[in-house]
Amino acid sequence: MGTISGKSIFPGIVIGQPYIERKKKVDIENYKIASDKVTEEIKRFLDAVQKAKADIKKIKSDLHGKINKEDLQILTVHIMMLDDPQFINDIKKGIKKEENNAEGVVRKVSNRYIEMFEKIADPIYKQRALDIKDISERIILNLTSENTVNENLHGKILVISELLPSELLKIYYSGVELAGIIMEYIGETSHTAILAKALEIPTLMGGHDLFSMEWGDQIILDTTSLEGKVISNPDEKTLNKYIEEKGKYRNKIKEIEETIDKETVTLDGKRVYLHVNVGGRLDITQVNKKKPDGIGLLRTELIYMDAKEFPDEEKQRKIYDNIAKEFGPDKPIIIRTLDIGADKKLSYYKMADEENPSLGCRGMRLTLSDKKLFKNQVKGILRAAKDHDIKMMYPMITNLNEIKEAEEFLKICKKELRDDGLEYKEDIEIGMMVEVPSAVMLADVFIEHVDFFSIGTNDLTQYILATDRFSPIAEKLYDCYDPAIIRAINIVADAANKKGKKVSVCGEMAGEEQAVVAMLSMGIENLSMAPAFIPKVRNLIRKIKISELKKIHEQILKAENASCIKEILNEYLIKIEKRRKNL
Ligand code: PEP
Ligand code: MG
Repeated sequence: MGTISGKSIFPGIVIGQPYIERKKKVDIENYKIASDKVTEEIKRFLDAVQKAKADIKKIKSDLHGKINKEDLQILTVHIMMLDDPQFINDIKKGIKKEENNAEGVVRKVSNRYIEMFEKIADPIYKQRALDIKDISERIILNLTSENTVNENLHGKILVISELLPSELLKIYYSGVELAGIIMEYIGETSHTAILAKALEIPTLMGGHDLFSMEWGDQIILDTTSLEGKVISNPDEKTLNKYIEEKGKYRNKIKEIEETIDKETVTLDGKRVYLHVNVGGRLDITQVNKKKPDGIGLLRTELIYMDAKEFPDEEKQRKIYDNIAKEFGPDKPIIIRTLDIGADKKLSYYKMADEENPSLGCRGMRLTLSDKKLFKNQVKGILRAAKDHDIKMMYPMITNLNEIKEAEEFLKICKKELRDDGLEYKEDIEIGMMVEVPSAVMLADVFIEHVDFFSIGTNDLTQYILATDRFSPIAEKLYDCYDPAIIRAINIVADAANKKGKKVSVCGEMAGEEQAVVAMLSMGIENLSMAPAFIPKVRNLIRKIKISELKKIHEQILKAENASCIKEILNEYLIKIEKRRKNL
């Protein structure tokens, strides 16, 4: 029996046969071509690109309605990349200049792009690197016509170093059904992870040394908790235990589905509000099926990243107005102002090169330094807020001067709108993200100047623990259950609660069951998360009694390390689960 652990991406328990895929890339030959064959070779390359585009478009139309629109955007991005004149021209030029075969040049040019993107720490660029890898492998497959799906994969758990989104789609599209996926690659926010969730395939990422494991014929993949587990060659006792667990898990899913339309209220009557985090594009129909109370975080940078130039005030007003209309009347929407800078770059905006970009000109620091850019957005939001329950929130606030400067700036924007006779919301609520340590330490001061706090635990964890969350070396240190983070969230919640102001958590941990218990124990009533997690969190909240959390609250604030905290929270989860069964 051997075990491997990793990060759970999509939950499930699978008992089945592994399919070990050691292959990395399609083997290609590099060879010279005669000068008079260059034009022909370029045509062969362009045909392969056209075929890749046609294939993706077909997959896209076939998947329409099966997975949500936001996830389908992955394919749109790939089609756009296949149209990117710079990428295509670099390859055409390469074939011409080097007089080499198309496969070799595609691999060489794409490797250059991949290396460039991989050097940038931001996950968006890491994802770009994967996208380039994906489309170039697709072109190469078309050029080499090695394009079939192995039918032996059907019903098995795929064990692979890295699976590209298009490979996963190709498998899905061929009718071959994967029971599970185990991958070495870590990328919770990668397109492969998004697709695995959309296709609902139990998936574990970040499994170490997959290929030195003795796999055997039968394995167990358990991704039902934060840390996923793989057990190879289980003994009889372990196997029986998991057969039982699998049955229990099935019942839990059924139970979650049954509470989707119920109110989010604890057993002792406390109403908790569950909001969604959304990017620029969103399939509101899909999101609304989860019955959220509002949008807790609208990440506007994605609207900017999708554009070719800065969207002007009117364009932004329209976008926010449309989102609010579609989402439903009276539902609160928190629009976060542009959070770019560091490695989140816009192709049409020049930013300074910095030694340490995560600590440099990003978020609110950047928008305050470019008032023209900021004004378009603030005015767009103010105008859209006229007819909706829209609030505005600032990212990366570090000191009080920034808030004061923003207050003054808001007055100027309002005055200009008044002077121009444009309608806007005068008393718009203003909030700030708490995501850097100084904002925690000064929470009691900041709360006097804003209407609400939203705790961004993704960045807060990285900045408090001085840990780059994307560095594999620092990976073990990045833990949002670290006592320092738990105490920080508590300080912020206390500061807001004392003043009777709203506080929410909008980092990824808001969708995790253990964290929900911790946050409720701190008096946090608003949580914002990816839409997929809402039903699970609602179902959990309906089993909690706030009156039982006092002791947990004390215990987690005293705990010395993350494991102790997780254990305390897990114990409570087990307790309430047992209570439900005994009802
Ligand atoms: C956060 O930092 O927790 C957060 C929600 O913001 P983002 O993930 O967009 O940086
Ligand atoms: Mg953040």
